[in-house]
Amino acid sequence: MAKLVRRTLALVAHDLKKDEMVEFARTHRTILARFNLVATGTTGGRVLAACPELSLTPLKSGPLGGDQQIGALIAEGQVHGLFFFVDPLSPLPHDVDVKALTRLALVYDIPMALNASTAHMIVGQLVD
Ligand code: PGA
Repeated sequence: MAKLVRRTLALVAHDLKKDEMVEFARTHRTILARFNLVATGTTGGRVLAACPELSLTPLKSGPLGGDQQIGALIAEGQVHGLFFFVDPLSPLPHDVDVKALTRLALVYDIPMALNASTAHMIVGQLVD
C-alpha cells in the first residue's frame, strides 16, 4: 500500500556536475516523482527546468547557505536520501559546507550518493 506521506530526497550538484544531475533526474523522473524533493537553488532550478512535473522546493544557492539548509532538514529528520554530486577538482568557496553536509548525512545515517554512478544504483532502492 502506498504511503500517505511522501518521503523527501535532497539534490545538490556543484557547477561542473549539474549536467550530470539533470541527466540523472531525467532518467529517473518517474521514481523521483514519488518523493518530495528539496535542492540547493541553482541545482533545483536546473532540475525543474528539465522535469517541471517534479515536486521540488529550491532552497538558497549552496554558497549562500543552501547546503546548510539541507543539513538542518537532515538534523530534523526531514530528509531521507541525499544526492550530492560533488566536484572533486575545483576549489569551492563553501568547502566547509560540503564537509558539514556530508557529515550530517553520516551522523543521521541517511543514504547518500556522492557521484552519479552511485546515484543511479541506489535511487530505485529508496522507493517504499
Ligand atoms: P547550487 O548550490 O545548486 O545553488 O549551485 C550547489 C552547491 O554548490 O552547493
